[in-house]
Amino acid sequence: MSEPESTKTKRRLPLGFKWTAVVAAGIFSTFIVLSLILVALMRQVLISQEQGEVKETLSAVEQRLAPAAKNLTTTTVLPRIEADNQITPPAGGDSGDPQTSVYNDSVVQKIARDDMSLAVYDRDGHKLYTSRDSDEPLSRVSSSVVKMASNGRFKGMIARAPITSSQNGKLIGYVQITDHMTAFYATMQRIWELVAALAAAALLVSMALGFFLASRFLKPIRSITKTIDQINEEPQSSARIPSLHRNDELSDLVDEFNDMLDRIQRFIDQQGEFTQDVSHELRTPVAVLEGHLQLLNRWGKDDPEVLNESLAASLQEVQRMKSLIQEMLELTRADSVDVQFPNATADISEVIAQVVNDMRMIHPDFAITLDNDLEGPVYVRMYRNHLEQILIILLDNGVKYSTKRKELHVSAALDSDGVALAVQDFGEGIAPKDRERVFNRFYRVDKARSREKGGNGLGLSIAQQLIENYHGTISVDSALGSGSVFRIQLPTITAEEAKRLQAQEAARTPDAGSTDMHSQL
Ligand code: ADP
Repeated sequence: MSEPESTKTKRRLPLGFKWTAVVAAGIFSTFIVLSLILVALMRQVLISQEQGEVKETLSAVEQRLAPAAKNLTTTTVLPRIEADNQITPPAGGDSGDPQTSVYNDSVVQKIARDDMSLAVYDRDGHKLYTSRDSDEPLSRVSSSVVKMASNGRFKGMIARAPITSSQNGKLIGYVQITDHMTAFYATMQRIWELVAALAAAALLVSMALGFFLASRFLKPIRSITKTIDQINEEPQSSARIPSLHRNDELSDLVDEFNDMLDRIQRFIDQQGEFTQDVSHELRTPVAVLEGHLQLLNRWGKDDPEVLNESLAASLQEVQRMKSLIQEMLELTRADSVDVQFPNATADISEVIAQVVNDMRMIHPDFAITLDNDLEGPVYVRMYRNHLEQILIILLDNGVKYSTKRKELHVSAALDSDGVALAVQDFGEGIAPKDRERVFNRFYRVDKARSREKGGNGLGLSIAQQLIENYHGTISVDSALGSGSVFRIQLPTITAEEAKRLQAQEAARTPDAGSTDMHSQL
């Protein structure tokens, strides 16, 4: 009891919601990861650009101060830096040193920047010059260093370098550049704002997309559920899932599902019809039997004539019921021939010759001719006794429904689709309206007459069921009053294929030769 209740109370998240969430999360996280990578790359590019500029300035300053031979002093430093800052390109443009001009420009520009400060120290660490106030203490480095720094006082890039005299190679001082990188941080902040705005937009778009996709994909599932509910409520309902009008797996699913429902419906209908037909067919012999038994009960005991007559009639009726039950069984079995005899093969020529001979013996008053165009054995993938049974049904009907002209023609020939067999009689024929229906179960053109001749209306249904299960076809041509031709088409196999199947069959059922195949029918 508690088990189903607990599953019922378990919180249910609709598939559409999950789908939307998964799609949105997928798109959103992809966007975020890509954005982070992009931002990191941009940050790297901007930093290395800034680094390049700072390094350039650093080496420019170094170059200017290096010509001094002794420890730097304010008097050596100031003119070299300050003077340069006022340098204007000489008139004519060809007298200046182009290299110095480049450095000049660079130093001028950098030092002029509000967020950058240049400081020069002597070798003992005394500050000699500073372009702007900066609290960053000097760190005496042995080689030039450019790095990012972030502490309570300062956030940005620091570049430091020792200055060695170009005259004697001695250490004469230090240069330190602190760069607050205002433009860099502003750019980065703008980029982050942009990423955040785009992320919010991406989240919205991905949720909308997820919702759209989920509703699109779930629509057929909802219709399937609705249709199943309808069918559950009313098992005979003809409700089907509306077609999706698109060419994808879901529309295939819908089509398959509808086909399956149609098949089930057909199967249910057939079962119902079959039960109805059977009870209807059994009613007559049972009623006849009951009549005779009542007769016997009333008068039969004293009247030997009534007794004999009723007993004979009752026996005949019982015989008829027996044959009806036998035929009904055959019809049901004809449905599963391919499962029962998967490797069966039969030689058409041999079977036809045998059946025709048997029929000639049973009906000596009939002229039965065989026109066999098959040269040598021709194999079909079919259980031999079934082929025999089909031919007997057709020949038996030919005999039953012949009138004056007691002739039957049997023919066999190869054609492009396999083998074509025909059984022709010159009897009463079948009217066009009955031609299709003669293959239906229990259908008889003239019920009373057929019954007289011992027909149950099942022979042609059995033949058709068997042939179709062996992938063949059966049809009828007929002219009322002139006779009928029943034609069968069956696919053939090569002699090698037949041999291979026979070997397989022998391996499957080692004692198959000793079993009575007829009893399996
Ligand atoms: P039955 O046992 O009644 O012969 P079948 O299924 O073999 O049942 O045939 C169905 C009906 O088709 C028969 O009752 C008969 O009316 C008609 N029929 C079958 N074969 C022939 C034939 N060769 N000539 C005329 N009518 C035929």
